[in-house]
Amino acid sequence: MIRYRCPNCKADMESPDSLAGWFEKCPVCGYKVKVPQPKSIPDGLEGELIEAVPEKEAIKQEQIIHVYSTPTNESNALPKKVSGATLSLVCGIVGLFFFGILFGLLAVVFGIMAYSTASKYPKKYTGKEEALAGVILGFIDIAAWILIMAWLFGDKISLV
Ligand SMILES: [Zn+2]
Repeated sequence: MIRYRCPNCKADMESPDSLAGWFEKCPVCGYKVKVPQPKSIPDGLEGELIEAVPEKEAIKQEQIIHVYSTPTNESNALPKKVSGATLSLVCGIVGLFFFGILFGLLAVVFGIMAYSTASKYPKKYTGKEEALAGVILGFIDIAAWILIMAWLFGDKISLV
């Protein structure tokens, strides 16, 4: 780490060695401060006073620093399939054969939850299409179940 001082308010600042020569924002006064080269610090005790740079000049450099400081595991993480999408699809398919009312409802509920999560964080999750397919299958299951029940028991119900 490079330790140095803000030339504006004298606050102690610290930056990783890789940021030497870049610009950092002083946490106290907000001034943009150039990070000194680690070589220039005698025995690493106290950073040399350096001049604050005008905002305009610093903006471009600061943006690069921002990219630098983004946690790598976050930005490099591959999107994974949103939970519930596969479950919704499986329930939707099972519902075509058994207990459509039950599996159809599950498929719709899981599918909508997964779909909305995947839409909200498109960089983080995939599986939107799968969730949507699950929802559609779920509605088909429910509709088919109601039609079959009406066909099987319709006569009896109308007699009561
Ligand atoms: Zn300061």
